[in-house]
Amino acid sequence: MGSTAIIITAVIIAALVVPLIFVLARNSAGILQLSHLKCMECGTEFDYAWIPLVSFTSLRFGPWRFFRCPVCRRFSVFNIWDTRVDPETHHCPVKIGPS
Ligand SMILES: [Zn+2]
Repeated sequence: MGSTAIIITAVIIAALVVPLIFVLARNSAGILQLSHLKCMECGTEFDYAWIPLVSFTSLRFGPWRFFRCPVCRRFSVFNIWDTRVDPETHHCPVKIGPS
């Protein structure tokens, strides 16, 4: 098996795994996490849905993420790890993500 075959195999695996992450994320019982956050600028409390290791619109620093508040649109750093809540039972009127 040459290197071309290895690359093709890797592409096929990636093509199968990436959609699977999104399918799992749609089920709240899957890998989707929910954090209850409070904006330090305007004080608004909101829920932030996120997928571990995946981020499209925010910067990640370990348990911290840097992104815009959905209400005042100002950037803040949020600890999304220590603020995790149960997506099945916790509901906030303001919710963003997965992002
Ligand atoms: Zn805010």
